[in-house]
Amino acid sequence: MNEFEFIEHIRPKTYHQPSLLYGVGDDAAVYQFHQEATVTAVDTFVENIHFRKDTMSATDIGYRALAANVSDIAAMGAEPVFYLASIVVPNTWSSEDIKDIFSGLAELATQYRMDLIGGDTVSGKELVLSITVIGKVDATRLRYRQHAKAGDVVFVTGTLGDSQAGLHVLLKELPETHPTFKDLIKKHQRPVPQVQFAQQLGIISRMALNDVSDGIANEAYELATSSQVDIHIYDETIPTHPLLHHFTKEQIEKWKYFGGEDFELLGTVSQKEWPMVQRVATSCNVQVTEIGKVTEVSKQQPTVRVLKEDEWTTLQQLGYTHLK
Ligand code: ADP
Ligand code: MG
Repeated sequence: MNEFEFIEHIRPKTYHQPSLLYGVGDDAAVYQFHQEATVTAVDTFVENIHFRKDTMSATDIGYRALAANVSDIAAMGAEPVFYLASIVVPNTWSSEDIKDIFSGLAELATQYRMDLIGGDTVSGKELVLSITVIGKVDATRLRYRQHAKAGDVVFVTGTLGDSQAGLHVLLKELPETHPTFKDLIKKHQRPVPQVQFAQQLGIISRMALNDVSDGIANEAYELATSSQVDIHIYDETIPTHPLLHHFTKEQIEKWKYFGGEDFELLGTVSQKEWPMVQRVATSCNVQVTEIGKVTEVSKQQPTVRVLKEDEWTTLQQLGYTHLK
């Protein structure tokens, strides 16, 4: 299958979004939003750094890559509408595998009526998948990290550490075939970005959001630094999946703070609007938990502090860092 046959294979036969004027097939795609702000993000996934062929199928690789991107759009409060996919294909991957990556992308995209509007296909030494997502939102409802204020409630959706626990199960070949670990494995291979919830929060006047891609320690620091505030977290309130009880205290501790890739949302909102957030969560069937509060900066620079067994400690901003 050559490049042109491949592009013909993945070219969408129909599109969902009325704002699209031209999709795949010309030198560039064209769309036009009338009122909304355009929100764009790109993420790049490299084989053996971001994913491994032995823990994920090609379809999962595509699904998860787009989920991670869509999660960034959700964390801005926006609705994802378009994506572009650029792929570097090594000759060790079959055409079937590459097609499967694109069916994984399409599977997630269909859930949100997102359209594939372009990309690039080239050959190279290792598989690299780079996805650009475009979303739209009323500009007054953007959820910048700099929106946190002292007095806000800090909350998180879902449970934390599941994805890393799932990866651990896959790599260690634990009783991974044990049916009960399926939830954790699924969270690793097919995370659910909180798109619907973030959008229904359009009724909230001000809110800071960050998606949990590198672990809440890192995400909390990003919120604190951007907003120039401190964040206090109450350790025992951090929600974890009941299955995590099968692991050691150290593993749970590590995964819930530094695990990442759960693609849940960490947010802050005023005390007054917090009950509304809880109501929206209930209506979307999303678990939402208050895990701390925002305070004024107490030292020279913003810090994240954790209360555990009556003792306060300053949290380290660990998590995965490239270009060390
Ligand atoms: P050009 O030479 O003008 O860059 P290409 O041959 O690279 O054109 O691409 C032709 C069309 O196919 C363009 O619309 C481009 O966006 C689209 N396309 C190429 N590769 C991909 C891909 N991996 N995913 C989606 N669309 C793609
Ligand atoms: Mg091109």
